[in-house]
Amino acid sequence: MVATETVDVVVVGAGAVGLATARELARAGYAPLVLEQFALSHQAGSSHGESRIVRLAHGRVDDVRDAQQAMELWRRLEYDTGHRLLDRVGGLEFGVRMAATEAALRACDVAVEVLDAVEVEKRFPGVRALGEDAVFQADSSVVRADAAVAALLADAQAHGADVQSGVTVEALDVSASHVDVQVAGRVVRARSVVLAAGGWIAGLAAQVGVSLDARPTLQSPTYFRSGRPTPTVIDIRAGGTEFYALPESSGAVVKGGLHDPGPALDLSSDPGSARPSVAADVAAFADWARERYADLEPDPFDSYGCIYTWLPESRFHLARHDRVVVASCCSGRGFKFVPLNGARAARLAAEVLGA
Ligand SMILES: Cc1cc2nc3c(=O)[nH]c(=O)nc-3n(C[C@H](O)[C@H](O)[C@H](O)COP(=O)(O)OP(=O)(O)OC[C@H]3O[C@@H](n4cnc5c(N)ncnc54)[C@H](O)[C@@H]3O)c2cc1C
Repeated sequence: MVATETVDVVVVGAGAVGLATARELARAGYAPLVLEQFALSHQAGSSHGESRIVRLAHGRVDDVRDAQQAMELWRRLEYDTGHRLLDRVGGLEFGVRMAATEAALRACDVAVEVLDAVEVEKRFPGVRALGEDAVFQADSSVVRADAAVAALLADAQAHGADVQSGVTVEALDVSASHVDVQVAGRVVRARSVVLAAGGWIAGLAAQVGVSLDARPTLQSPTYFRSGRPTPTVIDIRAGGTEFYALPESSGAVVKGGLHDPGPALDLSSDPGSARPSVAADVAAFADWARERYADLEPDPFDSYGCIYTWLPESRFHLARHDRVVVASCCSGRGFKFVPLNGARAARLAAEVLGA
């Protein structure tokens, strides 16, 4: 099929990563075309929902440094768009990674405290320490996820991005001078392409010769009503089982889940409808939450399905392969880095566009 239109750059996927990339490209003066297979703000990917945890506390120094940069960029996004997106609630981490997290934070000159169990419950009466110490980091925040995605979209469009929904990218053909992007009934010719296709990325990357071990799994965030506001909580048990939880609705709700691979998903013929949660994962989180929190209603009132796209060692893949930038930045922890990874992906595409 012959190309019917020519653009600077195509971004595949209007999730948080694709929109952050498009926003950076548009602000840099390029004219990105964003192609999204489903409706904008659909409920079938990874970026929907009211909230995500944004935190500096990680067990690796490189993650802390990236999180520091990302935190600054979140503040910049709030300033640029006039939307308040972050609520600073503080964060506790319990369990086996505490020493590594404390060391990584200190290595990056980030303020951190180790609280004993008595102090944890004194400061946060809604949390049960269960006799354990915790690492406390005051900058941990809740980002209003849906609002952040909407702000990225609006700002990208305001700066000239063309965002088209209901358009599935079916094939990519890279040549020395351009990439032909095939969608139903038309071919768009671009000088560069950014793949920000979430759980669907491996098949598209394979078409441009990039073998990506990216595995989509079904996760089950679950909601309890809470009698008291709480901080964000990470709890990594001996054996590696990890739970996360965060306050929503000004503290009236605790949302959380298992940060472990849920059931594998086959997205090859996906209708893009909302996904149900996994009963066993909801039950595992509910058991943990009833023990860890002092003032929850006994039963969860909601849960839904959402995709994690895991890469080995929970890393990201953000690299340029000739004219195509592959941005797989999830592993269940990608939202906090969205503005940073969007800026990095845009810079990689600009290496091609500026040439
Ligand atoms: C339940 C849950 C809780 C989480 N909690 C946190 C947290 O607390 N903190 C944190 O930092 N991170 C968290 N994350 C991870 C974070 O939300 C993700 O890393 C991030 O949203 C990934 O965004 P994305 O743009 O890569 O993927 P998506 O949002 O899935 O976007 C990819 C888009 O590409 C589109 N697409 C795919 N293929 C095509 C195609 N061929 N043509 C056109 N469009 C296509 C898809 O339809 C989709 O809209 C959580 C994730 C989940 C699911």
